[in-house]
Amino acid sequence: MESHKREKISKLLKSEAGTEIVVKGWVRTKRGNKNISFVALNDGSTVNNIQIVFDMTLFTEEQLKPVTTGSCISVLGNLTASPGGGQAVEIQAKELYVYGTADPETYPLQKKGHSMEFLREIGHLRPRTNTFGCIFRIRHAMSFAIHKFFNDKGFFNLHTPIITASDAEGAGAMFQVTTLDLNNIPRNPEGKIDYTADFFGRSSNLTVSGQLEGELGAMALGEIYTFGPTFRAENSNTPRHLAEFWMIEPEMAFYEIKENMDLAEEFIKYLVKYALDNCSDDLKFLNDMFDKELIERLRSVVSTDFIRLSYTDGVDILMKSGEKFEYPVFWGADLQSEHERYLVEKHFKKPVILTDYPKEIKAFYMKQNDDGKTVRAMDVLFPKIGEIIGGSQREESLEKLERRIKEMEMENSTLWWYLDTRKFGTAPHSGFGLGFERLLLFVTGMSNIRDVIPFPRTPKNAEF
Ligand code: ATP
Ligand code: MN
Repeated sequence: MESHKREKISKLLKSEAGTEIVVKGWVRTKRGNKNISFVALNDGSTVNNIQIVFDMTLFTEEQLKPVTTGSCISVLGNLTASPGGGQAVEIQAKELYVYGTADPETYPLQKKGHSMEFLREIGHLRPRTNTFGCIFRIRHAMSFAIHKFFNDKGFFNLHTPIITASDAEGAGAMFQVTTLDLNNIPRNPEGKIDYTADFFGRSSNLTVSGQLEGELGAMALGEIYTFGPTFRAENSNTPRHLAEFWMIEPEMAFYEIKENMDLAEEFIKYLVKYALDNCSDDLKFLNDMFDKELIERLRSVVSTDFIRLSYTDGVDILMKSGEKFEYPVFWGADLQSEHERYLVEKHFKKPVILTDYPKEIKAFYMKQNDDGKTVRAMDVLFPKIGEIIGGSQREESLEKLERRIKEMEMENSTLWWYLDTRKFGTAPHSGFGLGFERLLLFVTGMSNIRDVIPFPRTPKNAEF
């Protein structure tokens, strides 16, 4: 019987009673008495369990003994209409096979109601909880919806490299990739590390962003997007930063900042609506257990126009707010999450797209405005999160770009290929980066980014 094809619980719960079926999954709870046992079984296909009824005239107590919370079983039985109120159908068991036991004395998820902190310590088992089941199913749905959104629009998915030799983006501290023997580092006559002896013949790192390579794609394919892992060795232990996170970076030829903002707004609304339409059981669970305003907040984002505001006007509002911020606000300051959240949550009560930031606090590639002070950046700010998207129109003039690189005293020997896009057939273009886990924070209502990725990498933490 253990070799029978299983039916998924998600499907059974929507099926008509009256057939003989096999289910396989992990036991959530068992209760009952000498005459009858009820097992709630979950197989990961849905947050909902199916109830299995064991008539104890057909089974021995010995047979049911290893069926404890966390054990894995296969059951053959009849799908029947359930007399209880909780569910439409249940399974009357005829045969039982136990794949794997879970000793109640040592199984860490024996009891319900663990803290998120504790669950992070048992990251290898937390996918078995209802909460993480919901989160990871939503994560999958969002990943699928991202590809669908862009595919339907005629964008091409471009795979940009994970190992790179340029730190041109300057987006954050990088993880070095090397095969040099750290106990015996080769040095040149000046005493500097001899990277010609390293695997790639030069110093290389894990990527912090696929944008620069994405621009090469946009200048050939028109509209592309990347969706891959990015790495930042920033030692910032915040609830919004990971050392390894996933980023979606569309890059579009012939888009100016206005079209870039339109796309970003349409994109996020599409994803949130997709979650509301396709993940309702999981969202309802998270709404009931963690955040009673979650679904309401998601609906409101789908139906409101985002505010569009210049950095200068935003700073003005913050300075006049009378609010005590931990970090001071002034024109030129890099806005902190507290500032972003004030604009979104208290002032406008809507998502905000902030544009035209001072050039000093933004990357070299952003299009320079005529005022000589600001660049055509656009950050999308969200309730509870702050920055969820960072983007800009790109500087398409070779001359202006080279001047900016010089001004910023950047090492431009590794950038020649990027500059070639401006040398040969340059065009206005724009793009942005959406942090996938920041999106998931918003969609799931979780408050710590470690809880929306299966295996979080943060400073001093990479065990599982
Ligand atoms: P922040 O100021 O919040 O650190 P950033 O300015 O470094 O963000 P960008 O370099 O513009 O961010 O990256 C694009 C997007 O990637 C951000 O809008 C955010 O959604 C996400 N992101 C950036 N850093 C991280 C991180 N360490 N962990 C998770 N997501 C991140
Ligand atoms: Mn950052």
